[in-house]
Amino acid sequence: MIDIDGSTGEGGGQILRTALALSMCTGHPITIWHIRARRPRPGLMRQHLTCVQAAVAVCGARVQGAELGSQHLVFTPDAVRAGAHEFNVGTAGSCTLVLQTVLPPLMFAQSASRLVLRGGTHNPMAPPFHFIERGFAPLLRRLGVTIDLALRRYGFFPAGGGEIEAAIGPATENALKPFDLLDRGSAIESYAECLAPGLPRVVSSRELEALGRALQWSGEQLRAPPVRENEGPGNALMATLAHAQVCEVFTAFGEKGVRAERVAATLARDVQAFLASRAALGPWLADQWMLPLALSVARQGGAAEFTCSELTAHASTNMQVIERFLPVRFQAEADEGMWRVRVGAG
Ligand code: AMP
Repeated sequence: MIDIDGSTGEGGGQILRTALALSMCTGHPITIWHIRARRPRPGLMRQHLTCVQAAVAVCGARVQGAELGSQHLVFTPDAVRAGAHEFNVGTAGSCTLVLQTVLPPLMFAQSASRLVLRGGTHNPMAPPFHFIERGFAPLLRRLGVTIDLALRRYGFFPAGGGEIEAAIGPATENALKPFDLLDRGSAIESYAECLAPGLPRVVSSRELEALGRALQWSGEQLRAPPVRENEGPGNALMATLAHAQVCEVFTAFGEKGVRAERVAATLARDVQAFLASRAALGPWLADQWMLPLALSVARQGGAAEFTCSELTAHASTNMQVIERFLPVRFQAEADEGMWRVRVGAG
């Protein structure tokens, strides 16, 4: 039984999701105490409870404490069950975080899976669908994972109602060859998209114009893709930076009472911070990349490195949690305005 203190480091939902994912991958039962202790409303919220229920379904686990508000969970996994699964958060809570929980065990399964996930698809403080599709999934494919993603319907806070489909695996023979990601490679294209279903057109034109001015991007880099009539309301302003080795997607969210120009300024700041560094990965891709990379090192041996523009509390905490499950060691050192992270077998 691996005992996890959910109040350490970042003290949020990621500790729960990483622990569930690695419990399923390794077969180790877990006890998690003080779940989300550092969040304003600690314990399992609907979105986290859906992650637990999804994990239970994917590996036939026995579980205690799977209730709303629960701060203590005991989870005993059984064999991973690839196949068709549907998970519904039931609120606007992020369904990409449910995917983050069940993807690691399913990507090594011997047979394929098809997931339908319902809930929020573009949420603050969670990976937006386009970040997963354009940034995270291509890195997984380079590791040898088979994954296809489709966004069926957008889901924004507070209405939710989004839907994502994910087709995964089966794992290929030479899946999970760790590789280094030390630089992002040459720039291919960069563009911004404003999603603003159910909102007046002026919202997206003001956000895109302000972002264009801040980043000195031209008209054809500023896009307002059509969204279906019955979606929303909601507002996400996204910037996609495609490089030869890595594609990064940064997102800022509009909300009532926040001026369009402020949303654009928040996004411009994140993009500029990334562009000012030479690192391969931005802050969010860095903490999420650690888990599949560590799994591949644990399976194949050796070591792999990446550079990132920031080492966040999410990243430091994730390294600690991963080390509790896998025979790997992380080392992170500051290196000329960026961080160099190494994960080695050991
Ligand atoms: P937690 O706050 O512990 O529930 O974890 C949040 C997760 O969402 C972390 O894995 C973050 O990397 C991820 N995340 C938060 N904001 C973003 C963003 N703007 N883009 C991509 N991922 C994000």
